Amino acid sequence: MLQNQLAYQTKQTERAWAKYHEELQSRHKSELDQYNLNLRIIECKIDIHLLNDVEQMNNQLKKNISCPLCMTIIEHNKLKISGSNTKYCERCFNQMTNALFCN
Ligand SMILES: [Zn+2]
Repeated sequence: MLQNQLAYQTKQTERAWAKYHEELQSRHKSELDQYNLNLRIIECKIDIHLLNDVEQMNNQLKKNISCPLCMTIIEHNKLKISGSNTKYCERCFNQMTNALFCN
């Protein structure tokens, strides 16, 4: 009985984390899309004030969608989320995971 309850709670917790990760993934996707759209806007000859705004927005977006280790923008299909809910690119994530197994 208690074991069932524990198993149920573990499942609920897993489900909550999975949902949270899903949200992180979809937020990453929309921020990445916005970033790429802004790049196209910047390429067009737009008003200088608008240009500043869009560039400022993209600087912020870039922080959100970049890998904290290699600083490159993480493509949607290369996004990995660590146990501590930090976003990494696939390459750095795999390197970290391999390093953990070596120790
Ligand atoms: Zn990286």
